[in-house]
Amino acid sequence: MTAQKLKLFNGKIITPYRIIPYGTVLVDHGKIAAVREGNIEVTDALEIDVQGKYIAPGFIDIHVHGGGGHDFMDGSEAAFLQIAETHAQYGTTAMLPTTLTSTTEELFRTLKIYEQAHQNNRKGAQFLGLHLEGPYFAMSQRGAQDPRYIRNPDPNEYKEVLARSSSIKRWSAAPELPGAIEFGQYIRSKGVLAAVAHTDAIYEDVLEAFENGYTLATHLYSAMSGVTRRNAFRYAGVIESAYIIDEMDVEIIADGIHLPAPLLKLVYKIKGSDRTALITDAMRAAGMPPGESILGSIHNGLKVIVEDEVAKLPDRSSFAGSVATADRLVRNMVCMADVPLLEAVRMITSTPARIMGVLDKKGTLAVGKDADIVVFDQNITVDTTIIKGEIIYSQSEKQL
Ligand SMILES: [Zn+2]
Repeated sequence: MTAQKLKLFNGKIITPYRIIPYGTVLVDHGKIAAVREGNIEVTDALEIDVQGKYIAPGFIDIHVHGGGGHDFMDGSEAAFLQIAETHAQYGTTAMLPTTLTSTTEELFRTLKIYEQAHQNNRKGAQFLGLHLEGPYFAMSQRGAQDPRYIRNPDPNEYKEVLARSSSIKRWSAAPELPGAIEFGQYIRSKGVLAAVAHTDAIYEDVLEAFENGYTLATHLYSAMSGVTRRNAFRYAGVIESAYIIDEMDVEIIADGIHLPAPLLKLVYKIKGSDRTALITDAMRAAGMPPGESILGSIHNGLKVIVEDEVAKLPDRSSFAGSVATADRLVRNMVCMADVPLLEAVRMITSTPARIMGVLDKKGTLAVGKDADIVVFDQNITVDTTIIKGEIIYSQSEKQL
């Protein structure tokens, strides 16, 4: 439904600094035109009484692989669009489609499809650019990344990749590999965020990496080193490094399974809501019923089983991806980690917006910003999702 003016009233409005208990948000031509306590009289707006629910900035997921039965590596535009639509139903208004370690041909194909999908994405969460996860990873920390394609950074390769696409905004790599520091410097010079991931680095490596452009830790605790011993001596790993370096941002898979409640609390306690982004890292089974699924590309991915709200290897020896949606991340931070709602929301709105350099346009409900808005109830169940002023999803309408 399109309306030039939209008025959301009778809501609890979440701003970065407070929750306005009874307020109104006015949208005009896709931008936020007013955020105010009480009601605002307008004559020509589509009016929505949110009946005391929360009105928050739309959720921004900076690490997501799939959902609704599709993966970004499937090689089709339809997969991109359906993933975006699926996550929009759970409050995500912007996302970074994330690739997996693959052949160069597969990667090039995905870069191309991204451009088409970006053009034609009208009913789903907006694409903020691509996140390349791999292939420059430590084999020992590969997790579910395909070992056949893991390799050291190759300047000829990564320069060609970046020459082919201006839509790559983030690239995750292991900073201890030969050539990884030059890689970090190069991608930063091209405006691409460098993140440490799937890594066995020690503090000394991470510090050097941080000084050379790696300012984000990808899914903290997952596929990375903690304290290790070498010839009896202890070394701090990536996890401790992310805590020591105050300016380093971290992201966490807050599906409630990858990290238990005490670790969610610890990350929040040390890094705080300004330095911690919540991510789904979701695979294709997000938003789908339990059962068999495939991790990675539909053509050559890995068979997995989804149960207990997570994907597992068929022998159940290990997790094989998250099936979380953004609403669940917020709910977990509030219910499992005792984080105030305002701060839990910040971790998936203004913090990821700042990390990705889009805070001037997104991430808070402030006049002049894009009207990306989510309405949810006290259980963080999403009622309405609005993207650039357009109602993309409405639970109340579905019930009518
Ligand atoms: Zn991932």
